[in-house]
Amino acid sequence: MIKIVISFIEVLLEMGCVGICGSDVHYLVNGRIGDFIVKKPMILGHESSGTVAKLGKNVKNLKVGDRVAIEPGVPCRICTHCKEGRYNLCKDIVFCATPPVHGSLRRFYKHAADFCFKLPDHMSLEEGALLEPLSVGVHACKRGEIGIGSKLLILGAGPIGLVTLLVAKAMGAAKIVITDILQSRLNIAKKLGADVTYLIQKDRLEKDVVADIHAIFEGEPNRTIDASGAQSSIRLAILATKSGGVVVLVGMGAPEVQIPLINALIREVDIRGVFRYVNDYKDALELISSGRVNVKSLVTHNYKLEDTMQAFETSRTGAGGAIKVMIHCK
Ligand code: NAD
Ligand code: ZN
Repeated sequence: MIKIVISFIEVLLEMGCVGICGSDVHYLVNGRIGDFIVKKPMILGHESSGTVAKLGKNVKNLKVGDRVAIEPGVPCRICTHCKEGRYNLCKDIVFCATPPVHGSLRRFYKHAADFCFKLPDHMSLEEGALLEPLSVGVHACKRGEIGIGSKLLILGAGPIGLVTLLVAKAMGAAKIVITDILQSRLNIAKKLGADVTYLIQKDRLEKDVVADIHAIFEGEPNRTIDASGAQSSIRLAILATKSGGVVVLVGMGAPEVQIPLINALIREVDIRGVFRYVNDYKDALELISSGRVNVKSLVTHNYKLEDTMQAFETSRTGAGGAIKVMIHCK
């Protein structure tokens, strides 16, 4: 039997659900994302939830049997970023399934108790795991200052674009238009409440796409969130956004892209990055528990832990219209 030793501030978790993220697939297929290189065998998984099986001596916020969502990054807590409340920028953050740190796709896993969020009885372990991508959407919408006056353009209707759509609606955005290169993804966005969807066609000129977007908005969007990472999309974000507006970049594609930066400068379009989430899990949890956001339909496929390879294959190929593939650990 393997014995897992937990510290004073950790809990041992019997894992419940782990969702597959594009980055998990990337590490499995390519062995690296940018400078993060898998050099030794690494356990994947960071979108997860579980049930508390054992408490560290000093843990007061949880008890055995609690079902929790796991925020996968535990920062150092002592650097200036941590102290200033922007712990997502901590250089020493220990983040599940970012090499060399193992992830949470296993039967038992230990984690810092203050990065575990108790789920109310009416929330499922699947929803707990979905708090991870949802928190990215929450952070993106906060960075974009989404509210009742927002005319929002979202670029990319993958899981991240879709959760951003759900959060922006809950935050009261006046009009939301979402783009993708795949009609199948736009169909889902429409079902989830996008006001208008726009299919990006390869051979359409950039200036014509900008004109199309402005025609749809009957004006210009004052907020744009890119959730695709494509260069053409980041360019469109800048060119289509109203002067004085905000562009939020969430999608991560090539490390360097060519963009009309001077256009953004002369029109005072603010460009803001997003790195994961920071103090957003609680808000994401409340969005779901209050019923203001429903993420259940994002889960298109379910697998047992024993069928993990098949689950990854489904996620990688997008077979059967896969959006979020969920692995059940027990
Ligand atoms: P995904 O690949 O499933 O979704 C991307 C979507 O963008 C797809 O539906 C794709 O068809 C679409 N797309 C591609 N080119 C496009 C274009 N030119 N215009 C419009 N749509 C286009 O990935 P995801 O899981 O939804 O994640 C989205 C992006 O966000 C990825 O780049 C991912 O790496 C990134 N991400 C960033 C953070 C962060 O902290 N910044 C966190 C999570 C994910
Ligand atoms: Zn730190």
